Amino acid sequence: MNNQTTLRLSASGHDITPIDAASRDRLSAKLTPEERRIMIDHGTETPFCGGLLDNKEEGVYACRLCELPLFQSGGKFESGTGWPIIAPVDPAHVRQITDSSHGVTRTEIRCARCDSHLGHVFPDGPPPTGLRYCMNGASLEFTANDKVKSSA
Ligand SMILES: [Zn+2]
Repeated sequence: MNNQTTLRLSASGHDITPIDAASRDRLSAKLTPEERRIMIDHGTETPFCGGLLDNKEEGVYACRLCELPLFQSGGKFESGTGWPIIAPVDPAHVRQITDSSHGVTRTEIRCARCDSHLGHVFPDGPPPTGLRYCMNGASLEFTANDKVKSSA
């Protein structure tokens, strides 16, 4: 089956069916102009980590546009440098795209469901993964673990 409307679930049980352009437009109405510029009109970002996540709490980052849980931070991902490692909630929730548009080859990270730009991943991170996720704070909505528990 290669039907566009076939429901796709990730291994963690989330709906990762790509959303259509109309849904994307509707969802993007809630974004600020800056968030829209980063998430929708991707490619204007310089290859540095300025203005990105500055958060040492444990919790989950979800896509600001479609609310798919994307990354978790803190706890077992502590890098030992005081800086938490963030890692995908489920590898199927993020798409990696090789981007050579700024004269250097980088790996862009996009939301697997709505195709929004999220940030980049670099191969110079600390163990155990060796990956350094450089996510744009404007693309993600953070929920701390203690808030997840208390609102359940
Ligand atoms: Zn999304």
